[in-house]
Amino acid sequence: MAVQQLRKAVDTLGLEEEVFHILRHPERLIQVRINIRLRDGRRATFLGWRSQHNSALGPYKGGVRYHPNVTVGEVVALSMWMTWKNALAGLPYGGAKGGIRVNPRVLSREELEELSRKYIVALMNDIGEERDILAPDVYTDQQVMAWFVDAYSLAKGIPAWGITTSKPSELGGLRARVVSTGYGVALCCRIFADRFLGGLEDRTVAIQGFGNVGRHAALYLSKWGAKIVAVSDSRGGVYDEKGLNIEDLVKVKETRGSVIHYDKGRVITNEELLLLDVDILVPAAIENVINESNAPKVKAKIIVEGANGPVTPGADDVLRRKEVIVVPDILANSGGVIMSWIEWCSNRMGCWVEEEEAMKRLERRMTNVAKQLIDLWERRYGDKDLRTVAYVVAVDRVVRAMKLRGWI
Ligand code: NAD
Repeated sequence: MAVQQLRKAVDTLGLEEEVFHILRHPERLIQVRINIRLRDGRRATFLGWRSQHNSALGPYKGGVRYHPNVTVGEVVALSMWMTWKNALAGLPYGGAKGGIRVNPRVLSREELEELSRKYIVALMNDIGEERDILAPDVYTDQQVMAWFVDAYSLAKGIPAWGITTSKPSELGGLRARVVSTGYGVALCCRIFADRFLGGLEDRTVAIQGFGNVGRHAALYLSKWGAKIVAVSDSRGGVYDEKGLNIEDLVKVKETRGSVIHYDKGRVITNEELLLLDVDILVPAAIENVINESNAPKVKAKIIVEGANGPVTPGADDVLRRKEVIVVPDILANSGGVIMSWIEWCSNRMGCWVEEEEAMKRLERRMTNVAKQLIDLWERRYGDKDLRTVAYVVAVDRVVRAMKLRGWI
């Protein structure tokens, strides 16, 4: 998918074939072998990677995931997406991603800590607050970031807060980071509804996924007057055409584990949720859920990609023909990385930004990026889907920087 999307952008921009070949590979790909001592005295060995895709616009930046199925190809593709996401948001960053092939759920806290610290030690000379900045991803959290900071700081002999973002607030993190991706998704819904549906008030919305992204997007959207008619999690969804009470749903999810236990409304499947007759659909759970087989039956007017890669390239073509607007992930879920950048700036200045100010800066940045993209789409690329236009902006920024620097 990553290579296909790059192909489209390179062709749309009319760039030379050699540019495609430069950008389809990471600048650097590091593999590390980590071994740790288990509780029972045995030693276990794990493979980890860091893919540093591009640094034309600044230091590499991207998360680290711990998952038993992580592959090197996945890490490379994700690092390329980070390059475009950061470039589109106008951040002074390149793109990177890391991963360790491990099931963190079977490790004790001490084992996880040793694994995390050794990953940093193995990458010590390849990362840094001016070189490559890490962040959480699947199954890594603020505690893992705190271990990363400590391992790096101890080895370098300096407190290096800027080596990761999304840290605990005691270590220079921002509490606003938790809501920032969902807030950005909600902002995108509002901006696109204002522009293409005549406003957000009373527009119907269905949200797949009620985790960090989906839940916060739902809370902001309902506060701003949208009517959330359906939400779901991995166990299924709940639908009420009169609108759901999101605060009650948050409580149900926290106390009973799933939104399907909400007692008002009708229980539906995840597949049904995607095909509801709503104004806005927000897939905020996992990838590839809207594909060639269900895209012809989608009734939403606007899809805002809260998750990474929920709409496949085949579905993109179907939806474009149906004139459904797809707000691409590299814009829609960039609120998290924008907030991470605000955290990193504040860490490097040694002057902690206030939470309220951070939220205002995020809103300004996302609104400007989204509006400029819509403007370019309408002026120059009306025959393309919005994803291609977003890629065009991002790839163009990276290519210009590379050219000026002499093709690094
Ligand atoms: P999360 O783990 O907090 O929540 C995921 C939600 O999806 C849960 O409610 C879970 O029950 C649900 N889910 C899982 N499998 C499902 C399935 N098969 N069908 C329907 N629902 C299912 O994760 P999150 O942080 O909210 O991330 C969601 C997506 O957003 C991921 O694609 C992630 O990569 C992307 N994303 C997250 C952030 C962030 O800051 N959290 C930033 C950018 C992108």
